[in-house]
Amino acid sequence: MGVLSKTMETHLRSLPKVELHRHLDCSLRWSTAIEIARTLPQFQTMSLTELEQSFLITEPFADLDSVLRKFTSMRDLLQSAEILERLAFEVCEDAVNDGVRILELRFSPTFVAEANPQLKPDQILNAFLRGIARAERTWPIAVGLILIFQRTKTLGELLALRDWALDRREDFVGVDLADSEDRFEPSQFQSLFQPLRGTWPITIHAGETIYPNSSAGMRGAVELLGAQRIGHGIQAIRDPSLLQFLRDRQIILEVCPWSNHLTKSVNTYSKHPLKKLLEAGQFVTLNTDDPGVFASNLIDEYHLAQALGVTIQDFAWMNDVACAGSFLSAEKISRVWPRPRQKLSDLLSTASSQKGPS
Ligand SMILES: [Zn+2]
Repeated sequence: MGVLSKTMETHLRSLPKVELHRHLDCSLRWSTAIEIARTLPQFQTMSLTELEQSFLITEPFADLDSVLRKFTSMRDLLQSAEILERLAFEVCEDAVNDGVRILELRFSPTFVAEANPQLKPDQILNAFLRGIARAERTWPIAVGLILIFQRTKTLGELLALRDWALDRREDFVGVDLADSEDRFEPSQFQSLFQPLRGTWPITIHAGETIYPNSSAGMRGAVELLGAQRIGHGIQAIRDPSLLQFLRDRQIILEVCPWSNHLTKSVNTYSKHPLKKLLEAGQFVTLNTDDPGVFASNLIDEYHLAQALGVTIQDFAWMNDVACAGSFLSAEKISRVWPRPRQKLSDLLSTASSQKGPS
């Protein structure tokens, strides 16, 4: 690495960052994953290469569903409250090392408990909260949890999860809907989300993969489910009227370039629409999605974004957008964010689309 690139690395790392889209239950640090795997009989005799093959995704898979199946291997390691607390603490530590000041972590209690039935939702949440509280006492970082509803669960299971979460409403900063979107309509989840609209802000996974109803999925996420942010949303680039719709409503896109590459949500990485979305004036943010499974970190995403033509000025702007759209309280944000928090409407005038080519 030359002197100039080293300077760039230092600059990128020290840039104050906000990350809005990181799945806590898929973010186990690789060294910790190996350590835990070594304590379990089924993994004890595996070589490092075999462990990598079992847990990590480092090259594009056939599709999103194949990737989602791989997530279940990492989940098998989350067997105790102690491990969950350590996971949460280390995820925050990794984020701090990447310059993150504001971090929103999402998880699905049903996803964790499915493979670890000895853990009840309260135990899972309490363990995560202990790890996060310790991290917030240790470093200048503000962290909030987003509850994920899984599209693949029955309405009965989702309503039970909602009732449980409402009893713990102070412990979540927002809610999300995840899993593959192409087999589901937003309207199927309207009765689930409608009563939550005044309780928590909402983000929805949509517009991630290439499928025929992608645009309707994103519109439905906003109009029917009340989403203020869209997880991914990159397929909006194919639909100019949808781009206008999202911009008019100040909807933030939580873009995760490396994840999109690995799930084949873009044909080739060089065709990733991140820069084009910025130039179209969309409220874009940069995120990791599942760094534990993808063997990545947030700085990797910044380097990958640079390869698409994203500039240092764009990075600062995207972080201001993410700060403006964070679900954390203003008070918590003001404790860690080094500059005044701007409004999304103020950030419109400094968007890439207003500045011309950079
Ligand atoms: Zn995601």
